[in-house]
Amino acid sequence: MNRATESELAPATRADESLWLATERLNLAQRAARFGIWDWYVTTNTIVWSPEMFHLFGLDSESRTASFEAWQSVLHPDDQVMAGQRIEAALQEHTVLDNDYRIVTPDGEVRWINSIGEATYDEGGRPVRMIGICSDITQRKQAEEILRTREEQFRMMFENHDAVMLLINPLTGDIIDANNAAARFYGYDSTTLKTKNISDINALNPEQIKAERLSALHEERNTFIFQHRVAGGDIRMVEVNSSPITLKGQTILFSIIHDITRRIRAEEHLQKTLVELTHSNEELRQFAYVASHDLQEPLRMVASYTELLARRYSSQLDDEARKFILYAVEGATRMQQLIDDLLLFSRVGTRKLPQESVSTEELLATALHNLQAAIDESGAEITRDELPTVRADSSQMLQLFQNLVGNAIKFRRPGEPPRIHVSACTLGQEWQFSITDNGIGIDPQFSERIFTIFQRLHAREQYPGTGIGLAICKRIVERHGGRIWVESVPGQGSTFHFTLGRLP
Ligand code: ADP
Repeated sequence: MNRATESELAPATRADESLWLATERLNLAQRAARFGIWDWYVTTNTIVWSPEMFHLFGLDSESRTASFEAWQSVLHPDDQVMAGQRIEAALQEHTVLDNDYRIVTPDGEVRWINSIGEATYDEGGRPVRMIGICSDITQRKQAEEILRTREEQFRMMFENHDAVMLLINPLTGDIIDANNAAARFYGYDSTTLKTKNISDINALNPEQIKAERLSALHEERNTFIFQHRVAGGDIRMVEVNSSPITLKGQTILFSIIHDITRRIRAEEHLQKTLVELTHSNEELRQFAYVASHDLQEPLRMVASYTELLARRYSSQLDDEARKFILYAVEGATRMQQLIDDLLLFSRVGTRKLPQESVSTEELLATALHNLQAAIDESGAEITRDELPTVRADSSQMLQLFQNLVGNAIKFRRPGEPPRIHVSACTLGQEWQFSITDNGIGIDPQFSERIFTIFQRLHAREQYPGTGIGLAICKRIVERHGGRIWVESVPGQGSTFHFTLGRLP
């Protein structure tokens, strides 16, 4: 008998019944566990398969007979040689056969089978019989495959990621693993890097290293700034993001290392440049102040002697000479104005800001008082809304209002008396002031440029001025933490806006 079918095992007599029951029980258990039993008589090369063996191989137990060839016929072509060799080896070495291989069922399904078996031998050591089981391990193999693929994905991600990554033993500081980016960054090959201790690459701060490891043991994530020494001896500034990973009670430190050397150098450079800039700004301010201050005296001399010349010797001079003297006086007056404005401009930055409560209504009233002559001459009509009290430097605020209202009067349209309105509204934490006029307006392409020193849009003969007024306004507003800008429709008027922080 080389195959065991259920009909053959049916009880013929009562005496056979218990045997039948035992066999049935075994078959059902094999079906449930998906394993089959095989029994191979090596010398006669006959094989007996339990019914489940046929199931495992997808063979029909009615039409197929168990045989070595039947088994070979289902073996996956790639595993055929190996499976045969394993049996050969087990028989020769008298060891237990334990082998995993693939089969292809007649309808093309690939299954993984685990075969375990042991042989018996005659006195001469020749195998007589080998008996064992086959079980379907397809699901286990598939799960292993998924796991292996995921593991490979994670490893590839770690190995090939651009970020420098290290795995460290927090107790000893030994580098357990390092990716390719780490090898490149530290200048060692991966194998050498994995023999190093973190203290070999940490240039300084043994205390910090300890802190890093301790924080890992306390399962904290942390960021540290270290100095790491790379293979050539170079020191790099690094920011290390460390997070502990605890698996099965064992903690390792996962560190991502960012090279911040360039950033730190750039910050240092920026800081140095800032100091130098502040220094040279201060020197420039000093220079502008001293120069304009010292220029005043000789200028006054030029002006007064030219005037003296005009007064005393006018009768002795011809018309042309008198015209030249007039030009000289005009030049001196203009220069005086320039120096005064430059002094004002340089002073805006030098004085420390006194933060006093200032009523802008009162300030505007003073500004209008100072501008009275221009108001009378132009017939200007100036209106205002209710204006707030702010915390500011009152003399600079006065200057600001005076410059803006003064410009609104000066840049009026010919034959059109100036209509000027001053208002304020809240804008979040700030006040926004607006001075609106009905003057000549400003082409929007110049709306930035006019706040730069000496930038004017008109000839002096048309509208007098030095081009410093709005630069002073900008400086004052910015020193108070605000912004200043203009909105205008050329030919219709302009509105100058500026902001100031609100009182807390
Ligand atoms: P200045 O008044 O001495 O010319 P500013 O710096 O005060 O210098 O102004 C720069 C330029 O901006 C002016 O020459 C003028 O062209 C333009 N400007 C300023 N205020 C107004 C205004 N209210 N309406 C039209 N143009 C203006």
